Amino acid sequence: MDVIATFKDCDALLEGHFILSSGLHSNRYLQCAKILQYPKIAEELGAAIAKKFSDMQIDTVVGPAMGGVIIAQEVARAIGCRSIFSERENGAMTLRRGFTVKPGEKILICEDVCTTGGSAKEVGAMLRAKGADVVGYTSIIDRSGGHVEFDAPYRALETLSVETYDPSDCPLCKAGTQAVKPGSHGLK
Ligand code: ZN
Repeated sequence: MDVIATFKDCDALLEGHFILSSGLHSNRYLQCAKILQYPKIAEELGAAIAKKFSDMQIDTVVGPAMGGVIIAQEVARAIGCRSIFSERENGAMTLRRGFTVKPGEKILICEDVCTTGGSAKEVGAMLRAKGADVVGYTSIIDRSGGHVEFDAPYRALETLSVETYDPSDCPLCKAGTQAVKPGSHGLK
């Protein structure tokens, strides 16, 4: 499937002049929730990610909430394994709801979008501390432009470089267009 075209079809990837949550301006705006609202597409994305890890044994896919929950479920569906999610409790990533991992259990950590990979790395460290074997990381979109580094293989479905600008030195502002902030949450 053409991932970027599908994002555009779902209005999940907007092109124009946007204000990011960081305050920086950008030429692109990504909202994965708008693509994952369609189960058929989510299932196809999950199958495509699973294919990238067909050389590995994976026992469980772990998605950091909220962004990773749906896509982790779909990746696990394609692999035919278990899917759980991690949540923040008092600021720290943890397993709740009775979810557990066994020592040596082979884990794939799955996000919707990775920019710095901060949450995914935190989940990896938390699971390793429980004795699990984190064998890989994935996301639908690598928004770092290929720069993010993990302690196990990272394979994203698509790499997207998003240019960001300081508002005081934004070429889009200088060109005279108005920056907009679509939606309030979910901005990556
Ligand atoms: Zn601007």
